[in-house]
Amino acid sequence: MFKRILIANRGECAIRIIRSCCELGIKSVAIFSEADANALHVKKADFAVMIGPDPVKSYLNIHRIVTIALETGCDAVHPGFGFLSENADFARAVTEAGIAYIGPSPDAIRDMGSKTKARESMIAAGIPVIPGSESELASIDEALQLAHEMGYPVMLKAAAGGGGRGIRRCDSDAELRENYPMTKREAAAAFGNDELFMEKCIVEPHHIEFQVLADTHGNVVHLFERDCSIQRRNQKLIEIAPSNFLTPELREQMGAVAVKAARAVDYVNAGTVEFLVDRDHNFWFMEMNTRLQVEHTITETITGVDIVAQQIAIAEGKALPFTQDELSFNGFAIEFRINAEDPKNDFMPTPGRITRYNSPGGPGIRVDGCVYAGYEIPSYYDSMCAKLTVFAPDWKSTVQRAKRALAEYDIRGVRTTLPLYISIAGSEVFMKGEFDTGFMDKYPELLDYKPRKPREDIAAAVAVAIAAHCGL
Ligand code: ADP
Ligand code: ADP
Ligand code: MG
Repeated sequence: MFKRILIANRGECAIRIIRSCCELGIKSVAIFSEADANALHVKKADFAVMIGPDPVKSYLNIHRIVTIALETGCDAVHPGFGFLSENADFARAVTEAGIAYIGPSPDAIRDMGSKTKARESMIAAGIPVIPGSESELASIDEALQLAHEMGYPVMLKAAAGGGGRGIRRCDSDAELRENYPMTKREAAAAFGNDELFMEKCIVEPHHIEFQVLADTHGNVVHLFERDCSIQRRNQKLIEIAPSNFLTPELREQMGAVAVKAARAVDYVNAGTVEFLVDRDHNFWFMEMNTRLQVEHTITETITGVDIVAQQIAIAEGKALPFTQDELSFNGFAIEFRINAEDPKNDFMPTPGRITRYNSPGGPGIRVDGCVYAGYEIPSYYDSMCAKLTVFAPDWKSTVQRAKRALAEYDIRGVRTTLPLYISIAGSEVFMKGEFDTGFMDKYPELLDYKPRKPREDIAAAVAVAIAAHCGL
């Protein structure tokens, strides 16, 4: 049993891990940059250590984080998501310091972290991958030749990409010529690696991913799927579990392929196998995320499994407490990523001070947040400030509950994605329950919502109306 875990992350992600530690009777050690002195994860952890003045680099300083873990007597480190969570050197440094790493082996992180390497491993294991280049593109000429062989549209992608960045669709030679150097530069700047590869662009696909869990005793299971097709700029906004688009047969087939993919790289701990599925139910492996996923909450909700607690148990060397046959799911869950962004302004981040914060509650509601009234959202980090997870026994009642919970949510001071979600949840197209990754482009009218009136204005308007009515 671990006694003390260092959480190498911040914000909502760190708080999520602290919560499982607390329930398991494990002490948590948070780290924070100077800019995060007032962050909620610092207050919620049992111990907190300031790691440095740089807002971002502090959370990426492997040597310092491992030293703090040793100095504070931690027997394990949880990387969370983002930051160092997919960094094989970090996993290795933690393990070499004699501390357990709550995640896969450094080799599995490295092999799945590069999308080109992952494609090679999956092809070798007989898993269908999106048609595309065998490995890195050596030149624009090679890219053009491959695009001609496959036919447009194609996707130019960064091998080290993540968070929806470093991906560009190209519909013609001219677009490919223009995008090639641009994507290369973007990949070098964002990931320190300018390797590009190409995939056939799957038109109007569904993004369907399977959560897997693997222990050190050779047991691998999946916890069913999440439909993450509602995206902006190739990044998820709203996720749903289970997917209305899958038949039970396809679910079983894809789940088995996800487990096979994990086995092919001797995977241990929690991971996610992402697929694209076309209209005709053809599916292809896209990538594997070798970490806890932002949207794991919807899987927890429909399966009743605490994924973070399972990650910890696996790292302690315990066997999975269930077999595939013992796992099942119930009802529907929807996660809304409440981001400090202005959807009407191309989802530009809106850092600033939150003046009022009231989150929803009641039946079927889960909120994983990291903000509060008076909190100043820093500009250095991811714009996600909370995740609203809503669950109910069937799709229709889940949507009704989502509308209720979104209306209850009151965040003032900064613009957020909340009014967009109210618009989406109230639309007929959302109630239908079937989406592809073109959803936001197909229904631009969903962005035509009226910004919510601050409550103060409403109160003032009511007072004026009453005064007028009474002839005051
Ligand atoms: P997922 O596939 O899990 O949705 P992404 O590919 O979107 O994940 O990448 C992880 C996302 O999590 C990125 O957008 C990253 O910026 C964000 N992120 C990383 N660390 C944190 C954190 N501590 N709190 C909130 N978001 C984070
Ligand atoms: P990331 O590592 O940033 O998560 P992914 O490879 O998982 O990148 O792709 C993110 C999103 O980009 C997908 O969910 C999908 O919407 C889109 N996408 C990626 N590859 C393709 C493709 N070959 N065809 C169509 N859409 C794609
Ligand atoms: Mg992805």
